[in-house]
Amino acid sequence: MSLNCIRIPHKKNTENFETIRYPVPDTVSIPMSQHMGVHCEPLVSVGDEVKVGQKIGDSEAFMSMPVHSSVSGKVVAIDDYLSSNGRKCKCIKIECDGKQTVSEDIKPPVITDKASLIKAVRESGCCGLGGAGFPTHIKLNFDENKTPIDSLVINAAECEPYITSDYREMIENPNDVINGIKTIQNILKIEKVYICIENNKPKAIELLSSMTASDASINVISLSSLYPQGAEKVIAYNATKRTVKEGELPSHQGIIVINVSTVAFLNRYFKTGMPLTWRRITIDGDAVKSPCNVKVPIGISIAELLKFAGCEESKTRKVLTGGPMMGMCIYDLNTPVIKTNNAILALKKDKKEVQTNCIRCGRCINACPAGLMPTELEKAYQQKDADRLKELKVNLCMNCGSCSYVCPAKRNLAETNQLAKMFVSENN
Ligand code: SF4
Ligand code: SF4
Repeated sequence: MSLNCIRIPHKKNTENFETIRYPVPDTVSIPMSQHMGVHCEPLVSVGDEVKVGQKIGDSEAFMSMPVHSSVSGKVVAIDDYLSSNGRKCKCIKIECDGKQTVSEDIKPPVITDKASLIKAVRESGCCGLGGAGFPTHIKLNFDENKTPIDSLVINAAECEPYITSDYREMIENPNDVINGIKTIQNILKIEKVYICIENNKPKAIELLSSMTASDASINVISLSSLYPQGAEKVIAYNATKRTVKEGELPSHQGIIVINVSTVAFLNRYFKTGMPLTWRRITIDGDAVKSPCNVKVPIGISIAELLKFAGCEESKTRKVLTGGPMMGMCIYDLNTPVIKTNNAILALKKDKKEVQTNCIRCGRCINACPAGLMPTELEKAYQQKDADRLKELKVNLCMNCGSCSYVCPAKRNLAETNQLAKMFVSENN
């Protein structure tokens, strides 16, 4: 596997901004689909009173996990919901009572072995908090006879511009990071841990290195600040020098990759039993007057957060959830914050970039961490040639956006690849 990476501006404007807590909103809207996998069915009805941490949705499907209320209050509506990635599900609207009464069901899980760990992680409602949203209990539930795991890679690269949510987790809650890692390492008997941090975060590297200095099984790795250093296959390779081949998961190479905020959340859950009900969100972008890191209940509207950060809607060209490279454009500012959100960016209106013909410079090919040929993929998609797209391995595109970023002709290569992937799956 090629491991091409590119240099992009970091724009970590909020790195020194301590997380502030957002006041309890008037309402939250909690979608039943917030991660990779099957959506939940509501467990509550309109008119029900709910408390913080109460389970309000679940599913018996394998690739699923429960959804919990982030507030106390009353269920006022259960509507159909279309998320920005086109998925449909139910969405539970709760009118908050402002008291934040905690559910009586909240108690720390008893974890003694792998089975109880996996059960607890599922009950916590945890999915990968770096953005991909893969169910964490499935990632940890490897079959040691088929894929023995010897390496736990903690993804603390946070390579997308602007976002500092993981960084603030490391600086503000380093004990949760380390203790979460140790619980997983001990229960799953994983020999080595690699905490991988880009070298534009020297304070985090120093802090976590000093906290783990006496434990030879934990290594803090300083990575070059390159994009997409945090892509799963890239970070797995840079930590262990093992290549995750086509069609493989990191576990096939004896590796589990977990985001740093995910392990910190899990440690808090192991201590308190409070499931995933809030996120730390970086709010930034040139249309935002007061960039910040803010702790918000899941289900709060993005419009409310943009107002809080002084964003002027009239001057805003686009709003993204996530970073500028891989973030998702949202079409409705009333979209609620979900488990996988770590940033909201509001970008100003500017002159539209003009797309020109491909000049065959090859920069997109040199930039692609998956070793693909974006320019050829674009051509194959324009010709609607599913066989050629398969031959060019469009399925390996990780949607990192590097090809579009480097293209002097401003071609929407990454976006085209997403459409091409959908085209191939529809024409299989
Ligand atoms: S978006 Fe896909 S094709 Fe473009 S650089 Fe990233 S992995 Fe390669
Ligand atoms: S970077 Fe742009 S102009 Fe250069 S080969 Fe790729 S698509 Fe063509």
